Amino acid sequence: MLQSKLFGKTNKKAPRDEKSVNAKLLARAGFVEKLMAGAYSYLPLGWKVLQKIENIVREEMNTIQGQEILMPALQPKKLWDETGRWESGKDVMFQFKGRGGADLGLGWTHEETLTDIIRNKVNSYQDLPLYIYQIQTKFRNEPRAKSGILRGREFSMKDLYSFHADEKDFLAYYEKVKGSYLKIFKKIGLDAIVIEASGGEFSKLYSHEFQVLTSAGEDTIIYCDCGKFGQNVEVAKLKAGEKCPICGKELKSGRSIEVGNIFTLGTKYSEIMKAYFADKDGKKKPIIMGCYGLGISRAMGAIVEVHNDKNGIIWPVSVAPYQIHLIEIRDEKSGIKKTAEKLYKSLQKEDIEVLYDDRDESPGIKFADADLIGIPLRIVVSERTIAKNSVELKKRDEERIELVKIDEIINKLKNNL
Ligand code: ATP
Ligand code: MG
Repeated sequence: MLQSKLFGKTNKKAPRDEKSVNAKLLARAGFVEKLMAGAYSYLPLGWKVLQKIENIVREEMNTIQGQEILMPALQPKKLWDETGRWESGKDVMFQFKGRGGADLGLGWTHEETLTDIIRNKVNSYQDLPLYIYQIQTKFRNEPRAKSGILRGREFSMKDLYSFHADEKDFLAYYEKVKGSYLKIFKKIGLDAIVIEASGGEFSKLYSHEFQVLTSAGEDTIIYCDCGKFGQNVEVAKLKAGEKCPICGKELKSGRSIEVGNIFTLGTKYSEIMKAYFADKDGKKKPIIMGCYGLGISRAMGAIVEVHNDKNGIIWPVSVAPYQIHLIEIRDEKSGIKKTAEKLYKSLQKEDIEVLYDDRDESPGIKFADADLIGIPLRIVVSERTIAKNSVELKKRDEERIELVKIDEIINKLKNNL
């Protein structure tokens, strides 16, 4: 991509009304644009990052036999009345009237919608288990949408639902999802801790949250460095300073961001909504369910919260909008542009994603923008480097600058990405 043509310019100053680090940096670097509290547009750079996260999540969901679907955000009251959540969810659900006075709402979760499909499609134990997920826009009338994309009123979530004939099968899958979530968070550069949590709106049964420690978090967790124990303070029976029941080390407490939440639903929804299956012996039984949420846009915000410095964002390679930021330091005489353009083409040929700063700007502005945007590897072509048949290579998170011969750079990059 030519930076001169890129839609979404950088800004020296953050919008005055933004308080959170993720919103300030993402807005300054041209990734997002705020429409109103809790509603953001994703500009080309931001949309690329969001899609990369989506695809990593999608790949993992498919690996654990998830089948992707897409359900409507627009929902009829009738369906929600079946579970009583039209009333109990009034605070969180956007509700309004459609044409002819019909009561409609926007989906903030999809148990009802999917259970409705399932009861029409599943008859026998032979149809089970099923693992169905979507990556979709959710709407929640959040009371405090002040944390940038960490808390949207409109946001992107991956929600997976599983349907089983027996408890043992459910528990095995629940553990599988746990492992899969940890893999996802590691891949996208987040150190997530699994903790015990309350079932919240969804169930009185047990649930686990995936939390990322950072002062920007709105949750507080009690956890142990051994990684085997953690609880949300909302349900914690132990305090920081007390001994970890697993390893005996001292427990800590910290602020954190909830990036994922998985729930045991049991037969709560299937009983109310009459989603039954016929067992081997022909007996009718309610389907056993689990649900598994992961905040795609919140994860993006969390990455920015933990991967940044005073100059800007530092994207992990796996989710960076581009892998390489190629910068030419203009000098008409010495053929820099030609060399940079040639390198740009070779990188593209190798399927290496590159943002090429071909703008007529000063080196200072180009370097500052590169740091702000946060692409993990920077290549500089200048008069000085060309004199040595070389380019400069620098990692966003390191100070060290390496001079690499032009004909060796592609191989070198392949080893670094
Ligand atoms: P919170 O306690 O932060 O309000 P929640 O527990 O209500 O979140 P869940 O219903 O568990 O959220 O949703 C599943 C996942 O969706 C969460 O773990 C989080 O990653 C993401 N998520 C929830 N609400 C929002 C939001 N308003 N904006 C962005 N992501 C969200
Ligand atoms: Mg939750």
